[in-house]
Amino acid sequence: MFMDCFRYDALPGRIVFGAGMLDSLPEEIDRLGCSRALVVTTPEQADQGEAVAALIGDRFAMSFNKATMHVPVDIVDQALAVARDAEVDCVVCIGGGSTTGLGKALALRSSMPIIAIPTTYAGSEMTPIWGLTDGGVKTTGRDSKVLPATVIYDPDLTMSLPGFIAGPSGVNAIAHCVEALYAENANPVISLIAKEGIRALSVSLPAVVNTPRDKTARAQAMYGAYLAGTALGAVGVALHHKLCHVLGGSFNLPHAEVHTIILPYATRYNAAAAPQAMEHICQAMRTDDAAGGLYDLNVAIGAKTALKDLGFERSSIDKAATIATQNPYPNPAPVTYDAIVTLLNDAYQGVRP
Ligand code: NAD
Repeated sequence: MFMDCFRYDALPGRIVFGAGMLDSLPEEIDRLGCSRALVVTTPEQADQGEAVAALIGDRFAMSFNKATMHVPVDIVDQALAVARDAEVDCVVCIGGGSTTGLGKALALRSSMPIIAIPTTYAGSEMTPIWGLTDGGVKTTGRDSKVLPATVIYDPDLTMSLPGFIAGPSGVNAIAHCVEALYAENANPVISLIAKEGIRALSVSLPAVVNTPRDKTARAQAMYGAYLAGTALGAVGVALHHKLCHVLGGSFNLPHAEVHTIILPYATRYNAAAAPQAMEHICQAMRTDDAAGGLYDLNVAIGAKTALKDLGFERSSIDKAATIATQNPYPNPAPVTYDAIVTLLNDAYQGVRP
């Protein structure tokens, strides 16, 4: 059915994509009119930060390698102090969603432009969504200030990403695409992007995990992640992301793995209420059942398929369902406590939906 009436805020941003394109970083800094970069990484990726510093030569001002999950506000304060002391005029963040998240928090508080160089498939670099954690409470918001001015996608940088991180990270990206297809503010342009994102990721992820040196698969997965981030940045989310937010935030479960486990069940939950989205997923994945196809993909990439495998307790299901149904939000199928308990029970056991 053709959607003949919609609103769509297209987002700005420059994308540089391709193996070896990290080398264009110096000219991308110049292009923004900047000359003193703060290079941001996690402690684990400090080496990559050093390589970037060497690459940009005298455009390098300082590095900050304490990026960590959930963007704690004290880390942001520390990074801001370093940025001020070194009189930096732009942020170069190289890493996954946690590193991009710190870059965004710096942009939110200082208005400095960001050049994001993603090394996972989280997709944060394409969204104006920021998050900050203060005293254990995570606040999120949208602000165009945090949208990176330039994103350099260099699939060579993902060669070091082990399969057990790459697989769930890619399914996290597929989840952005799936929910974009049935978001309250879905539109045909983003649906096109989301469908192509699902296709590119579902065809490449098994190869990324099972034949890790396959450069073509790495490039295709990164292309899918770019599309997924674009979809997430442009339209809203629904049950799947809300449920993962609850499980990650209140039960401290790992972000990408939770997304991976929940996606087939959230898709089954919404299947009857979002038939056109299901058709798009089936076409993209060449399957006749969207939820089952997503579960089979998780098996193909050797991902965990049950919440119990993440250490989640069955006795926590009631609490999770209560939190998840406290504040209403748009979703194709009505979100009820009993139905969420059933969903979580199935996801706890990991039975094919
Ligand atoms: P992450 O950034 O926490 O990275 C996980 C680990 O992998 C880190 O130790 C990192 O250093 C390491 N790593 C990253 N790339 C690597 C590589 N190529 N080789 C080896 N190791 C590498 O994980 P993530 O899944 O990328 O991001 C998750 C976070 O991003 C969550 O906190 C989530 O909320 C956030 N996120 C935000 C948005 C948004 O729009 N704001 C979107 C998606 C995700």
